[in-house]
Parts: sequence; C-alpha cells; structure tokens
Amino acid sequence: MPIDLSTPAVPVSFEVYPPRSEAGVATLHETIRHLAAVNPRFISVTYGAGGSTGGRSLELLTHILRETRVKPLAHLTCVGSTYAGANTLIREFLDAGITSFLALRGDPPAGASEGDAFLGDLESAAQLVQLIDRVQAERTPYAEAPFPGIPGAVRVERRPKVDIAVAAFPNGHPRSRHPGEHIDALLAKQAAGATLAITQLFFHAGDYLGFVDRARAAGVTIPILPGIMPVTSPARLRRVLELTGAQLPVELSIALEIEPTPDGQRDVGIAHAAELARSVLDGGAPGIHLYAFNNHDTVLAVLGDAGILTPHDPHKEARP
Ligand code: FAD
Repeated sequence: MPIDLSTPAVPVSFEVYPPRSEAGVATLHETIRHLAAVNPRFISVTYGAGGSTGGRSLELLTHILRETRVKPLAHLTCVGSTYAGANTLIREFLDAGITSFLALRGDPPAGASEGDAFLGDLESAAQLVQLIDRVQAERTPYAEAPFPGIPGAVRVERRPKVDIAVAAFPNGHPRSRHPGEHIDALLAKQAAGATLAITQLFFHAGDYLGFVDRARAAGVTIPILPGIMPVTSPARLRRVLELTGAQLPVELSIALEIEPTPDGQRDVGIAHAAELARSVLDGGAPGIHLYAFNNHDTVLAVLGDAGILTPHDPHKEARP
C-alpha cells in the first residue's frame, strides 16, 4: 500500500550533507525532493563535516529554500574562525535567506594536538549562538510602524527572529572532562539563546530518555530532539562508533554481523531505528530527527515502519 506523504504523525526532520562532487548534485536534489514530500519541519545541512565546505553547504541550503517548501537549517561551526571571519560567514548565510541554524563548535582538524589551541576566537558553540543572534540584530535596520488606533504614534517593528539549534550528547561528549560537562555546556547554550537541541545519535531509548531527565533536572527547558541514524551495515556501525565514541550496541552489532546479505542488513538497521523512534516517542520525545546519509529510501522506510508515515487510505481522498 502506498505511504501517505502529506502528514507525518509527529514532527520529523532530516540531516543531509553537501555533495562531495558535481556528479552527486542531481542525485542529492532528487533525494531532497523525496524528503521534502513528507513535509518535514526542516532539513539540516552539515558544515565542514566530512570535508564539506561552506560554499557547498550554502548552495544546497539555497536549493532547499528555492525548490521546496521546507525550512533549510544550516549547521555552522566555529572551530578555527576569527570573530571577523565568523561574522562574515553568518552574514552571507543570512543574506541568502537562511534563518535557522545549528550552532556547533566543530571538531579539531585531524592531527591537531590536545588542548583548546585549535579553537580560534570562538571557544564554544554557546559563543557562536550569541554571535549569530548579534549579527542578525545588527544587519536588520531599525524600523518603526504606525501604532494602530493612535494617530501619530509609532511602534518599533519587531525584528525577524533566527532559530538557533545546538547539539546535545545523550552519552556525554567524547572530550568531556567530567560526567556532567555536556549538560553544563547545554545549559550555557540555552542561556546564550538556543531554542532547540538536537542529539548525537544513540542506540538505546534509555540513553536519550535518561539524558532528557537529567537535563530537565539541571534546568534545560528547550525541546531536545532525538537524532536517530539507521545503521545499515557492520562497516557503517564501526565508522559511527569511531566518530562518536558511542558504546557498541551489542544486539544490533550481532544482528548486522549474522545477516548475510546487504538487503538483510539494511532491514535490520531500519527495524532497529524504527523501534528506537517508537520508544523515544512513547517516552515523550517532541519529534524525530533522522540522519539520512543522503539517501531517502532508508529514512522514509524507518518512518513507515515506526508508523509515523501512515499507509495511504484511498477512501480518504474521495471524501469531500
Ligand atoms: P560545545 O557546545 O562548545 O561543547 C563541546 C565541549 O566543550 C563540551 O562538552 C564541554 O566539554 C566544553 N564546553 C562547551 N561550552 C562550555 C562552557 N560554556 N564552559 C565550559 N566548557 C564548555 N561537526 C561539524 O564539524 N559539522 C557539522 O555539521 C556537525 N553537525 C553536528 C550535528 C549534531 C546534531 C551533532 C550532535 C554534532 C555535530 N557535529 C558537527 C559535531 C560537533 O561539532 C562536535 O561534537 C564538537 O566536538 C562539539 O560541538 P558542540 O557544538 O557540542 O560544542
């Protein structure tokens, strides 16, 4: 039965990365078209991760803005930037019409020594949140509008607000120096003006739900959106564990290893991600953010399996 693409049962969003070559552009645009068809809240585009450049990110964000009705959300990192450089970059994105951001510190370049010497002028994502807000305020000219009903009176026009999301780490940040540091960092990002947190991937619903409880107890009030990645092969699982420092999910790992075919492994990954999505939603998650790996089939299958995209009812259309 076809899937009803018009109304997901809960808010969904996707992450993609810019194409690494010209050859990948058309395929990715096709993927965006499929993802946009399920009416996600936003599609986010990574920055600097995996070798993607700012130019490529902005091109893709502009494509989403022009060609779909979905809000593009730009990841921005501050590692290695000067204040002036970060200021110019933020302005460039705002000038292109991008008004939603995921403010990140970014990781040290490969081979950088331990310590914070790699950081540049901005030392944390919280400082980038403040800078985005400040740049937006500075570039919007002061404007007045007539006050309705009182001749001659004026009011200050309200500035269009930027949405600023930040990263959260259910299992702690791999570079944290003490167990509560990632929650302190999230509090700092909220205090700086962040309005949404998106989590690093995790493999057990309890990791996310326990983290949300601890964050709430510490004073975090912004929505915390669970980031879920369907892991569809043992090789991808190894790569993800390497990048994130997450603990090996033993059952998923065994299920992927004993499955002899790529299609079977893909089914295992989809079923696991769908089950995870259902569990965190049952536990109160405000929606689902899926790491799409620039492939629409897998993440749409996860949403279908999780019952978030419902099977299409042909009689529904016939009703007035
Ligand atoms: P921060 O919030 O600055 O925190 C990092 C650590 O710094 C904290 O754990 C804490 O140890 C310390 N810290 C922060 N603030 C304070 C403070 N006020 N006081 C004391 N200590 C503090 N990377 C990319 O390069 N490009 C991407 O597009 C990208 N997208 C991502 C998307 C998501 C959803 C996630 C979860 C991560 C993403 N990353 C990306 C990875 C991210 O850049 C790294 O995990 C990075 O190491 C931390 O970034 P952050 O924004 O959490 O940093």
